[in-house]
Amino acid sequence: IASHLLAYYFTELHHDQVQKVDKYLYHLRLSEENLMDVTMRYRREMDRGLGRDTSPTASVKMLPTFVRSTPDGTEHGDFLALDLGGTNFRVLLVRVSANGKQKVEMENQIYAIPEDLRRGSGSGLFDHIAECLATFLDKLGIKDKKLPLGFTFSFPCQQTKLDESILVSWTKGFKASGVEGKDVVGMLRTAIKKRGDFDIDIVAVINDTVGTMMTCGYDDHHCEIGLIVGTGTNACYMEEMRNLETVEGDEGRMCVNMEWGAFGDDGKLDDLRTPFDVEIDLGSLNPGKQLFEKMISGLYMGELVRLILVKMAKEELVFQGKTTPELLTMGHFQTSFVSAIENEKNNEGLLNAEQVLQGLGLSPSAEDCVTTQRVCQIVSTRAAHLCAATLAAVLRQIRDNKAAERLRTTVGVDGSVYKNHPQFARRLQKMVRRLVPDCDVRFLRSEDGSGKGAAMVTAVAYRLAKQHTE
Ligand code: BGC
Ligand code: MG
Repeated sequence: IASHLLAYYFTELHHDQVQKVDKYLYHLRLSEENLMDVTMRYRREMDRGLGRDTSPTASVKMLPTFVRSTPDGTEHGDFLALDLGGTNFRVLLVRVSANGKQKVEMENQIYAIPEDLRRGSGSGLFDHIAECLATFLDKLGIKDKKLPLGFTFSFPCQQTKLDESILVSWTKGFKASGVEGKDVVGMLRTAIKKRGDFDIDIVAVINDTVGTMMTCGYDDHHCEIGLIVGTGTNACYMEEMRNLETVEGDEGRMCVNMEWGAFGDDGKLDDLRTPFDVEIDLGSLNPGKQLFEKMISGLYMGELVRLILVKMAKEELVFQGKTTPELLTMGHFQTSFVSAIENEKNNEGLLNAEQVLQGLGLSPSAEDCVTTQRVCQIVSTRAAHLCAATLAAVLRQIRDNKAAERLRTTVGVDGSVYKNHPQFARRLQKMVRRLVPDCDVRFLRSEDGSGKGAAMVTAVAYRLAKQHTE
């Protein structure tokens, strides 16, 4: 079945086709110069978010996390963790034992959050979370124990301490009413109290980037950056307290949740945004917000490809000018299709393109499959390179903080796009090394940072709290 595709792959025509797409989408193909410029712009945005006078109006919020210490290895005990805001909502039990070599074991359960709860009333959402917790505790037979809990809540939050976290605004697929401006710990406590069938001790709320940095920091003490490229995108890093003007004190460091997804919300990226980016934004749950995230993350990547294909079809550049109801439906070109179509092994990707397009009711020619593959490559490469540009700014900031000529550092990374797309990680790393040649950067995949990370932060906080009361 594949022979016609394979035969086509090695022809001059294939090459011409690729060039045609490249020309058509030239605005999505960013040069190294463009990217260096993005690095510079982002560095200025970081400064604005850190400064006392500029932070209130900065679009990159640079939120303090109140995470200052990493695990020292003496933490131990059983901890609960909640993970909300990634691909799945999960409840976890993490056992940390300090018997010489620290060990982390876990029990892990995924629960669905139906769309009507994600977009309904906030109290309904937190009632559901409390119910999932109750089910989990019941299943493990530990409902009578008052365990400490860490909450990975992967949205922008204003924190004044570890266990208070005020939601600034929902992002990604969430829009429950009556939560923005409220403390999510308070809302969870209320929902649990209302049930009255169990009690827990909510110790910490953290962002998923922070959890990722903490779990990787456990294995690699150079780890001082956490990066997520999944449903959404964001990063955190260890900043000097003296630069973090929004928190009292000049000693030591604190982890800063940058919320880089909001980069460009004030128009700073308008020259790089294409009509497709504008369309994605207008069709989203939060128009005008998270504009950088919408150029990159998994919630939007497939949709970007779909919008491009629809426009090309309407201009009779693909599918002989035909569209189908499926192709015209929002969300029907999943981000996982992009990964499948970019599979380079034995031209597997072109076959996948044919299958995906057929699944959308189209009858693609060999040329159409090549076009679709090229569109995917251009969209996902831009995403990887934009992440590289902002990450380069963070690396420069850390290097300057240390006044080091060469920086040796580790980035902990997690997220479905980074982990599942066949080329994303390589492209990102390659571009980072070009943009900051004077840094030795190690990229470390986190193993379940948003789950284990919350437990690790909780374990550290718990140890410190006990020291204070003893
Ligand atoms: C959220 C961040 C989060 C990121 C990755 C963004 O939409 O605002 O808080 O870290 O997604 O999950
Ligand atoms: Mg996650």
